[in-house]
Amino acid sequence: MKRIDHAEAASEFIAARAHQEFHDRRLWDLRLKRDREAHGIPEWEELRSLASEIKEHTLSHLADYLEEFETRAKENGAQVHWARDAIEHNQIVHDILSSRGTKTLVKSKSMLTEECDMRPFLERRGIEVIETDLGERIQQLDDEPPSHIVVPAVHKLRGDVSSVFARTIGAEPGNEDVHYLAETQRRTTRPYFLRAEAGMTGANFAVAETGSFVVCTNEGNADLSANVPKLHVASIGIEKIVPKTEHLAVFIRLLSRSALGSPITQYTSHFRAPREGGELHIVLVDNGRSDRLGMPDFWYSLKCIRCGACMNTCPVYRRSGGLSYGATYSGPIGVIIDPTFNMRKYSNLPFASTLNASCTNVCPVKINIHEQIYKWRQIIAERNQLPFVKKEMMRIAGRVLADPRLYRAAISAAGLAIEHLPRFAIYNWLNAWGRQREIPETPRQSFRSWYIENRKRP
Ligand code: SF4
Repeated sequence: MKRIDHAEAASEFIAARAHQEFHDRRLWDLRLKRDREAHGIPEWEELRSLASEIKEHTLSHLADYLEEFETRAKENGAQVHWARDAIEHNQIVHDILSSRGTKTLVKSKSMLTEECDMRPFLERRGIEVIETDLGERIQQLDDEPPSHIVVPAVHKLRGDVSSVFARTIGAEPGNEDVHYLAETQRRTTRPYFLRAEAGMTGANFAVAETGSFVVCTNEGNADLSANVPKLHVASIGIEKIVPKTEHLAVFIRLLSRSALGSPITQYTSHFRAPREGGELHIVLVDNGRSDRLGMPDFWYSLKCIRCGACMNTCPVYRRSGGLSYGATYSGPIGVIIDPTFNMRKYSNLPFASTLNASCTNVCPVKINIHEQIYKWRQIIAERNQLPFVKKEMMRIAGRVLADPRLYRAAISAAGLAIEHLPRFAIYNWLNAWGRQREIPETPRQSFRSWYIENRKRP
């Protein structure tokens, strides 16, 4: 399987200057809003610790809580299915839909169904799938995956959205008014809600003691998807379980504040039982989660509540765009989850980080993201999964850093080389970092020589 070349893919995004600058600004703005909200709550750090502890407790007793959830959900009248992996998930959903003659499915945003590649699976079998979240719909119409787990089309400028809508849903060409664009999407999506035979949602949290689940959205599209058609299918990752309803109070306070810097999502909808005369199917999906739970260094990533705060704060993500990661999950959370799906394919991703730990600092459930990134780097190197150039660079760097004389010689040689070598000798294909930035000027004097010169002075 081909290895994702993050640096190469990112160079395309960076080359589009206006996009890159907007992306960086927009996400940093979300980070600042998140900070304002967090600072407005005196017990914020206490909430983070509590959220982390609840998740760790639940994951340590996952089998018990899943069984409790299943029992309660069945008592409520829901039908519960278990999917070992993406293929099984897609097949279960297809069987439910096709056995009821469903031709159209309206769905709200769900990273799990992206992870399972469900839409193409159903479409190949004659079921039309309509994304109803505005960002997801833009991405669907443009035939692109989401580039962010909360704001899927955040890498697009309004002009891009205008062109996509003009090309696909008959919007007025060149009209970039955001209200007009949102209204056009709403007007063209609404009929699908009315004629779809089935609706699909994901879930942000599933409560073991009640067998119910919660979906948080800002557009109300999940509520329409779940409540207009008679058949509601909810796909839920097994890590979404929390033991009790009271625990929601902790997570709901953290989620939207961390994600978008808003106190709460517009809609926090609780689903418990099928509507009268309707059906509710819950598909509990593993798809690698049990394996991850068994990884001593990486199981903490299962605490993730998919808020995207780590992405918004990450300097690499903000400047390289989500699509450059070539995976369902991008940014810091993607960097630690993706290699659990396929280590070779995603072996470059843990190197797309400055290890500044900003992701860890904002994570509402206190996942040690930067430590996991560092751990992945070690594992990838140990298992010989480094690309040849990086491996050789690391080997040379290792030797230089281990020998003080060699290190000092290299420092002086590097200064001279940057000053005197022709440009192509430094900025070539071996130097991916130099493609979009200049190497900083070397100081005239190293710290060591300054120190030797000055240490005897009073
Ligand atoms: S890792 Fe933490 S910050 Fe990142 S998406 Fe998950 S919960 Fe949010």
